[in-house]
Amino acid sequence: MAACVCGALQKKPSEGSPIVYDAENRRYRLEVMPGIVVDDAKCIMCGGQGIGIRDRMCNCGSVQQWAASEDSPVYKDQGNGLFTLRWHERPDGKTPHYAIWYCPVCGGRINDD
Ligand SMILES: [Zn+2]
Ligand SMILES: [Zn+2]
Repeated sequence: MAACVCGALQKKPSEGSPIVYDAENRRYRLEVMPGIVVDDAKCIMCGGQGIGIRDRMCNCGSVQQWAASEDSPVYKDQGNGLFTLRWHERPDGKTPHYAIWYCPVCGGRINDD
């Protein structure tokens, strides 16, 4: 299964992207926080399914688990109900936040209902 079909995941290192390409293993890698690393990460924008497609829903619960742990950079945005990844502060002082539409572990769509 493709890790990404929307083009958000790049093999070249791109500024600020939380998911980086591991050329040696030909996989994408997401370090959620120290101790939690997804070695074969799927795109959080499309899950390898396509933007907005709900063919497969997440059934592993990883994102919910991360959000439940203290000091986690993953949280549920109370405004839009989406799980969100707070990423590292950039040199310009801004901290990017990424909505997690698809589970990076299983590629399933996160239920945002
Ligand atoms: Zn994608
Ligand atoms: Zn999942």
